[in-house]
Amino acid sequence: MSLLNYVVVSIVATILRFFPWPCKTGLYDIGQPDRDSPVLVTCNYRLTVARVQKALQGLNAYLLVANSRGINVWCAATGGLFTNHDVISVLKTSGIEERVDHRQVIVPQLAATGVEAKVVERKTGWKLIWGPVYADDITAFLEGKLEKTRGMRVVRFPWTQRLETAIAWAFPISLVSALVMIPLWREAILPLVLLVWGLSLLIFLAFPLYSRWLASEGRRIGFTLFDFGRGGFQVIVWGAIMFGLVAHAALVGDLSWGFVARWGVASLGVVLMLSLDLMGSTPVYKSGLHEDRLLRVVLDQDKCRGVGYCEDVCPRDCYHVDRDRHTATMPRAERCVQCGACIVQCPFDALHFRSPKGEVIPPETIRKFKLNLMGKRLVR
Ligand code: SF4
Ligand code: SF4
Repeated sequence: MSLLNYVVVSIVATILRFFPWPCKTGLYDIGQPDRDSPVLVTCNYRLTVARVQKALQGLNAYLLVANSRGINVWCAATGGLFTNHDVISVLKTSGIEERVDHRQVIVPQLAATGVEAKVVERKTGWKLIWGPVYADDITAFLEGKLEKTRGMRVVRFPWTQRLETAIAWAFPISLVSALVMIPLWREAILPLVLLVWGLSLLIFLAFPLYSRWLASEGRRIGFTLFDFGRGGFQVIVWGAIMFGLVAHAALVGDLSWGFVARWGVASLGVVLMLSLDLMGSTPVYKSGLHEDRLLRVVLDQDKCRGVGYCEDVCPRDCYHVDRDRHTATMPRAERCVQCGACIVQCPFDALHFRSPKGEVIPPETIRKFKLNLMGKRLVR
């Protein structure tokens, strides 16, 4: 893929981040692969494929693009759209088995919420290895004899990703707002669009400044910004915006009840839209809208054999596995984002979720039912 193509794909995928963008599934040759070249699987989200191809430039490898319905790896796997069947299907139908002498396939770690290593291995005879979270680490992972460092396992939310997320929110919201305003109030379009972009950039770029106050406990389900327990923060934001607008209108002599009413409704709409509690748009914080945010992972020491799959797939580095003593512990359990990957992959069912009321959600439920956008396990 040319650099220009890559830039175009990146821009389009960023402004339309919340929409699927499928590309062709099947086998892609990278460089001039031979019978010993590594085999990697990814999803068929256009941007992901472009990033993996770019990361693999200069190497010889096979890339298997599996059907994830045009959605990125983590969302598709967690939502039941990137499954065992999709990985098995691409291994069996792409022709890769005739192209290589080995049976080792690297699958992105974030697929561990929906793709079960032991099922794929049993049904295909391929050994599944969890690759790094980010495409940029693939080369180092391959050069490091398929050993993942901690940095390769953990999700991050750097400013580049925060900027992308802010754009992904601001673009569709400002577009819809502008279209709605065309027949109603044209003069308001520009300030409204600027307001949406300003708030969106502020919320995501400033994330590290307020993230320490984000916590699951005490948060309500509903239209809450980063809810400090009472859910009143968005009212303060709305009040501040209205105060600024009214003060400005009074200064330029343009203040009227019509002005206050129209701007009151418009700015409240913007604040509510941007108050969806980040809506799971960050990889490090579970939205208060998600029902499963209060679940806790429970580790049954009697069943654990210390094989370490949990540590290998946890994107938040919650685990420590002592391979000499064959034990696992969760010294950083508070970082958990309830993705379920560890529970899905544990071969001895030593892990399960427990609700605040003490209900046990067994591994079979997590494997069978996937999350919808509201954090309910509904999708089979
Ligand atoms: S994957 Fe299961 S058995 Fe293995 S260390 Fe983790 S909890 Fe223990
Ligand atoms: S401990 Fe939490 S974040 Fe880590 S894999 Fe398990 S469910 Fe996901």
